[in-house]
Amino acid sequence: MVGNVHGSAANDANHCDLLGRSGGLGVAVARRGRSRSHRWRTGWRTARSELSATLVIVLAPSYNSARFSFTPSLASKEAMTDADIRAKLRSLIDPELGLTYDRLGLIGSVQTTSDAIKIGVQLPTPAYPGRERIGDAIGSALSGSADGRKIDVTYSWSVLGRETGGKIGLRIKNVIAVGSGKGGVGKSTTAASVAYGLKHFGAKVGLLDADVYGPSIPLLTGAKGTPVVRDIELPNGQKIQRLEPIDADGMKVLSIGFLIRDNQAVIWRGPMLHKLLTQFLQETDWGELDYLIIDLPPGTGDVSLTLSQLLGLAGAVVVCTPQKVALLDAIKAISMFDQVKIPVLGIVENMSGDIFGRGGAKAKAEELRLPFLGEIPIDATIRVRGDDGQIASLFEDDNPVKPHLLRMVQNVAMQITRRVLIDAPMPSLEIL
Ligand code: ADP
Repeated sequence: MVGNVHGSAANDANHCDLLGRSGGLGVAVARRGRSRSHRWRTGWRTARSELSATLVIVLAPSYNSARFSFTPSLASKEAMTDADIRAKLRSLIDPELGLTYDRLGLIGSVQTTSDAIKIGVQLPTPAYPGRERIGDAIGSALSGSADGRKIDVTYSWSVLGRETGGKIGLRIKNVIAVGSGKGGVGKSTTAASVAYGLKHFGAKVGLLDADVYGPSIPLLTGAKGTPVVRDIELPNGQKIQRLEPIDADGMKVLSIGFLIRDNQAVIWRGPMLHKLLTQFLQETDWGELDYLIIDLPPGTGDVSLTLSQLLGLAGAVVVCTPQKVALLDAIKAISMFDQVKIPVLGIVENMSGDIFGRGGAKAKAEELRLPFLGEIPIDATIRVRGDDGQIASLFEDDNPVKPHLLRMVQNVAMQITRRVLIDAPMPSLEIL
């Protein structure tokens, strides 16, 4: 899915969320100089000061636009061409990923007019954190040679992915697995949060519950219904049948929980499990997605093995709680992913706080040289909303866990971007 400044309303909300506002119209004024603090005002306001230049970032949530404007006071001797401008920007480095703007493909369009230089920044994910800092860096890079013209920066996004599901007919840019060494650590809650979080940022997301031994996604999302099989006609006239996922708050969700009776225990033999997962992926109408999140069963490797054989996953998120005994299981999960050639995107520490402690997973991530994706506090808000089938609402109102969840989701999205750009794909799995 491609988003732009005129895209979905979700982008607005997130832009404000990231910057700590809940809505309304605001102008952020960042003065260039030693201090780069952002001050917030309601209503329109510009700042003119004794400083050499003023950056004005205008956020207009109701119009879903984010614009950065910079009026340099210095004039260059020669006007720059579009190519000169691109040359100046290509070597800027994004601090979040340590990659150049050129490598990230951040600079989309460059347009110069007599009074403005217009830069269209194209982000590799709508969950890109701190996008205003890109406008800041562009403003600084061009300030000395803009010839008095103002610098306008607009943002759009198009999710970057390896699209490895193509070989089984999926049109999904990134498939992300969420796993844990054992049950009860909040894996399904985290999987649902990653899905709703990415959706909140504006991405097109699906959620597949592959925790066939204890499917809890229907409960957490509040999704109900029985998936139906539909006939679909392909452009070449061929008719095929596809399973239709359930719609949960605008997100496609599929779970074995929709197909079995409540309280029914299901015993899976390996080949049956393999067949079910293949159907859930290959014979399901997921449509075009930016991200598909898969909630894995805890511990075991059989589902992961099947996934790894079917498609190249963007990576796995490992969820664990901070206490020592839980960390041991997380290490086993990481080693399992290594064995089935699924790259580990990083570790999430869930339920951190007074009861289970804090920081254990972060220390373990550092020790294992894996990215730490964030900590989610132990908080009754999560348990209550999970029980009510309202995980989506964690992203809709102000609550104590929302900033933690947003940051975790952004870290997941950025790790995927980093992997697509830097890391070679994992070797394909040898089947014994
Ligand atoms: P798993 O998938 O690892 O078995 P779940 O996601 O089903 O775990 O979560 C188990 C229970 O813990 C659920 O009742 C859920 O609401 C609760 N829970 C998960 N994370 C948190 C948290 N950070 N704070 C409070 N309760 C949580």
